[in-house]
Amino acid sequence: MQNTDVLISGGGIAGPALAYWLRTAGFTVTVVERAPSPRPGGQTVDLRGAGRTVVERMGLMDRARELSVDQRGLAFVDASGRVTARMPADSFGGEGIVSEIEILRGDLGRLMYESTLPGTEYLFDDTVTGLVQDDDGVDVTFEKAAPRRFGLVVGADGLHSVVRALAFGPESACVRPLDLYTAWFTVTEEMELDGWFQMHNAPGGLVASARPGRLPGEVKAGLSFRSGPLRYDRRDAAAQQQLIAQRFADAGWEVPRLLRAMRTAPDFFFDSMGQVRLDHWSQGRVVLLGDAGYCPTPLTGLGTSLALVGAYVLAGELATADGDHHVAFPNYDRVMRPYVTQAQQLPPGGASGYAPAGALAIRLRDLSMRSMNRWPMRNLMAAQFAKADDIALPDYDRTAVRQLEDGGR
Ligand SMILES: Cc1cc2nc3c(=O)[nH]c(=O)nc-3n(C[C@H](O)[C@H](O)[C@H](O)COP(=O)(O)OP(=O)(O)OC[C@H]3O[C@@H](n4cnc5c(N)ncnc54)[C@H](O)[C@@H]3O)c2cc1C
Repeated sequence: MQNTDVLISGGGIAGPALAYWLRTAGFTVTVVERAPSPRPGGQTVDLRGAGRTVVERMGLMDRARELSVDQRGLAFVDASGRVTARMPADSFGGEGIVSEIEILRGDLGRLMYESTLPGTEYLFDDTVTGLVQDDDGVDVTFEKAAPRRFGLVVGADGLHSVVRALAFGPESACVRPLDLYTAWFTVTEEMELDGWFQMHNAPGGLVASARPGRLPGEVKAGLSFRSGPLRYDRRDAAAQQQLIAQRFADAGWEVPRLLRAMRTAPDFFFDSMGQVRLDHWSQGRVVLLGDAGYCPTPLTGLGTSLALVGAYVLAGELATADGDHHVAFPNYDRVMRPYVTQAQQLPPGGASGYAPAGALAIRLRDLSMRSMNRWPMRNLMAAQFAKADDIALPDYDRTAVRQLEDGGR
């Protein structure tokens, strides 16, 4: 086998999932992660379609079910807390906006991380600073660790991937901004949610949401707003919170309470939303995975499925090609490209459907949500959710077994 030493940048969802599958196939894996430990935080992510199948194939589905968050569905509320539209979790056969298996992003990240132990080397609190490749490998420099050489390097380091910046060019050339910004954080105060994921839209393209967490009394909050490009320091949480507090000053509902809780939340996370669009995901020995290569944005509900399926396919292709990236990387692209292209089509209404700008647009969106179970909205939404399953997952284990059998004949 070639290229047995693989470096993965990013220990979120895609990175550890890939580490799991590569190790299973006999590769030696090192993961470098910017955070000091697996990152907590985020709201729930959906385990849907083929993404769920990959978790099943990892043997982690029972644990994922144990960790999943019970929610009755999505309820839109007005400034006074009155429900204006609902979508129960069992609409669309458990594959609606709130899917049957919703798991906190931090819980899924930890589950993936633990599945790689022991046997995977983690370099926490560090980052790649340079990549130089030649015919036999890639020389990598780090901010803290000593320089090392690897056969292959995988960028699984999210929307603002440093590997992508080093090997593919600046973020501005790869990311299409959605003109949406979001903060996620945990509230440890009791809120009357009655089991529903509650969402409140306010004029100005503001979206405030709160959903039950996994632990009693824990609420996962989100505050999103629409805006053209903003300049802010990505490491200055206090300045980001100030920006959000100004935007949401008059938003009504439970927003004052959420803003108070935001200031002391241990897992506050703020980012822009954007789609990564690239016409190739590899440059020589460097390849991109998950949000780093094809972030579809949280609006699609498919980012985690793409990350999990991408990890499975990339590892499967590398194993099948005995580590030959000349064969494996084009095959990874061929298998994943149609799935990614579908997933990147935003749901009906796109950013303005999620964060309508004016009062009338908010009322129209509520109306369309109320008619979600009827034609034509039902068909439009069903098509969006069906995308999660729109890939024939190769059965790499069986391929390897078949090859062994063929070789034996
Ligand atoms: C804290 C957090 C909260 C999130 N919450 C939600 C949510 O509530 N809902 C939702 O739909 N999506 C959320 N996402 C995005 C979601 O996790 C991804 O869309 C999806 O799961 C794809 O996973 P990924 O592993 O490709 O990317 P990510 O989950 O973004 O993981 C990327 C990892 O790379 C690390 N990293 C970044 N830069 C570097 C670097 N220079 N060197 C080393 N490591 C680096 C990050 O710390 C992170 O651990 C969140 C992401 C993060 C990081």
